[in-house]
Amino acid sequence: MSAPLPIFELRQTFTTALLDPALPNLLIKAPTGSGKSTQIPQFVLDSGFLPEGKRCIVLQPRRIAARMLAQRVARERNARLGGEVGYQVRFDNVTSRETRLSYVTEGVMLRQILEDPNLDRVGCICIDEFHERHLDGDLVLAFARQLQRTRRPDLKIIVMSATLVPGPLVEFMQPSKLLESEGRTFPVEVRYQAALQLKTGYPEPIWDQAARACEELANSPGFSGDMLVFMPGGHEIRKTIAAIQGRSFARGRRVVPLHGELTPQDQDAAVTPGEQPKIIVSTNVAETSLTIEGVRAVVDGGLARTAAYDARRGINTLTVQKISRASAEQRAGRAGRLGPGIAVRLWTQREHLLRAECELPEVQRLDLSEALLALRVCLASPTSQTRPTEFEWFEAPTPASLKRAEDLLHDLGATDTHGHITALGRQMSRFPLHPRFARMLLAAAQFGCLREATLCAAAAQGRDILLVGKNNASHKNEDLWEHGDVTEFQAILRAFARAEAMNFDPDACARYGIHAMASREAARSADQFLQLAKRAGLSINDEVADPEALAKMLLAAFSDHLGVETSPGSRIYRLAGGYTGHLDKDAHIKAPRLLVASEIVEVQGKALTVKLNNVSRIEEEWLHEMFPGDCTAGRSARYDSVNRRVMNMEETRFRSLVLASKERGEPDETQAASLLAAEVIAGRLELPLWNDKVEQWITRVNCLSKWMPDLEIPPIGEEDRHILIEQLCHGCTTYRALKDREVFPALHQWLSHAQRDMLEKHAPERYALKNGKTARIVYDEKQPPSVSAVLQHMYDVNENPKVAAGRISVTVHLLSPAQRPIQTTGDIGRFWREGYPAVKAQLRGRYPKHEWR
Ligand code: ADP
Ligand code: MG
Repeated sequence: MSAPLPIFELRQTFTTALLDPALPNLLIKAPTGSGKSTQIPQFVLDSGFLPEGKRCIVLQPRRIAARMLAQRVARERNARLGGEVGYQVRFDNVTSRETRLSYVTEGVMLRQILEDPNLDRVGCICIDEFHERHLDGDLVLAFARQLQRTRRPDLKIIVMSATLVPGPLVEFMQPSKLLESEGRTFPVEVRYQAALQLKTGYPEPIWDQAARACEELANSPGFSGDMLVFMPGGHEIRKTIAAIQGRSFARGRRVVPLHGELTPQDQDAAVTPGEQPKIIVSTNVAETSLTIEGVRAVVDGGLARTAAYDARRGINTLTVQKISRASAEQRAGRAGRLGPGIAVRLWTQREHLLRAECELPEVQRLDLSEALLALRVCLASPTSQTRPTEFEWFEAPTPASLKRAEDLLHDLGATDTHGHITALGRQMSRFPLHPRFARMLLAAAQFGCLREATLCAAAAQGRDILLVGKNNASHKNEDLWEHGDVTEFQAILRAFARAEAMNFDPDACARYGIHAMASREAARSADQFLQLAKRAGLSINDEVADPEALAKMLLAAFSDHLGVETSPGSRIYRLAGGYTGHLDKDAHIKAPRLLVASEIVEVQGKALTVKLNNVSRIEEEWLHEMFPGDCTAGRSARYDSVNRRVMNMEETRFRSLVLASKERGEPDETQAASLLAAEVIAGRLELPLWNDKVEQWITRVNCLSKWMPDLEIPPIGEEDRHILIEQLCHGCTTYRALKDREVFPALHQWLSHAQRDMLEKHAPERYALKNGKTARIVYDEKQPPSVSAVLQHMYDVNENPKVAAGRISVTVHLLSPAQRPIQTTGDIGRFWREGYPAVKAQLRGRYPKHEWR
């Protein structure tokens, strides 16, 4: 037997900490292969910590790891799988009443919490591979912490990872203890191998590149041992195995796949040691979740299938993405378990530096609606006192992404207007699916189209089955579309049936413009949807479904993608979400007035335009039937900028989307006035009679109000102007009527009779000159009032005029007989004494006919 696993060094400390009631939380950091996943849970079992009737749960991000770890541990304990040790993954529950240790996937655990919010049957929960930071794992941790703080102080939480950054987690888990083991690792030499450029002009496929790397390793002097190749999924793994087996070096080696779609026997074969050297071609399950003995070299394709938010469909989907530098580091480490190893990366060193340093946690990048639905259900349980806003995430999502999820749940009918979970929401939460698809299955059962719905859901979440427009010369798929189709999914269903009839043969399918592999994948996920529906007891139709039932079912799941055509034949749609979308000419249903799109694609460059795909025709009466609370009708006044008038519109709406509007009757006077006023205030309409005279009057009022507060004259501020404008608009519904309105009658109302008299007296409009004429006094809120007068008219005036009962002196602008400015003065007496003689000497020659005293 080999040396004991490094984790045994921690056994004593671990057990002591486990049994210490003051330490509810433990963190374990140890390199991959140390024995965390297989041994720590056994330490728990053997410590006597677990009370009667309670289990230890080990959370695993991947199904295949949950099953294989359970199997390994059962074997180590000479027990039957499903007895003391079991596992539970979607579609597969291998546990019994005897089970005390269960390996469970994160998604399944989340459902268990929904059913048993106190986790009465759980004594200890180990969150393994926490560094992967899946949304479900984050949620389970946050729920468990909350339970521990409230109703289950006895619940032990153990977080485990090889690459954990402990700081923030130690903080979050207080009081907690961190246990670390260095493990044993050997240096790994990293090589980079770029793709070749083929004569065809295409780069070398990743599987050929991997086979080439394996061959070079096999032929390098002194190399012996197993190789581990990382590929993103089943398809790439099959291609890689074929490429390796096509080369002579493969003779005498076992080439085995390892991924989640294999049978358990095949999965076991990959990790079972044998006589011959092995090449294991695996998904990233071998990155840290499963350790494979004997690996001396790693070939890393650099890709992984990862969940990502797909804005087109408003769901999370799996896509192939480049792994980060941190993941590549982990993968390389798998070659250094037994001795110095080699890792070949199938990309260049330059490209390596351009890769992300590490993956963003899912909570920061995925759609949260499924998580939020679970949260709503849990927090609505009669025993919970926490409100959603108080929920303590390990790392909180952004308010914007929470809001988007809230809105979607509401649109799907899972929550009411207060955000509380509805009966429908509860039903939806029982499906381990995105709420859209949960809603879809429930609606399908109601409308009698569940069998078809499982395929529609599979098609909506998977790749395109139809190769429309791609290499279309050879396609004969026109007959998939029929005149009068209600939904484009009808063509997809026909294509699928044809692909199935041709046994998903790639060449035969391609001739009909059908993507064989996408169809096969769709078949598999449709089957899973069907199993979930059956398990939930939904009724499954035997008859072929009515196409209108399909459209209704799609409407239920995508009501936030409802669109109404702006005008008949425009093919432009206003969408409930606020977008404007267009329906392509090559869409395969006649452009309807109302539609629902299962996919909306943003068009590059045009900010708010989207293309509508996979559309279905919708009847307005279905909206009333299915969403009675969201349909409203009402009259409201609206300003029409073309005719510059206010019209009374009768509108029907679905949520905030206006479905139809007609002019009816006369608008309400007050509403019309405020709509017109808003246009004036925004500067889009002018009032020609609101002139300088009006502005001077307002200034006089404001000045006097400031100068003589005792008069209690109310000043006219910005707000008051708006009120005045609204008063002017009163009784008008058109700009034509408004623009001839006199302003003064409304303005004068501002002051009482007595105040108006005071205004004339203390802030007079004009100043009386010696010659019997008057000069206008210019008022200004920022500087003293002023008057302009020809010098000769001011002889004998030795003091500046005064207003405001003598409190304010008026500045005098003295002008020449030709009205040219001569002097501005605040003290005219002094001017006569000091400045005047020089002025006189200078000007009397120029204006000899005028009086010069
Ligand atoms: P960790 O979780 O720390 O990465 P594990 O507990 O998964 O480590 O594995 C510890 C050791 O147990 C591994 O180094 C490996 O040698 C062995 N092991 C685990 N699972 C299996 C298995 N299914 N078959 C053979 N050996 C296994
Ligand atoms: Mg592990």
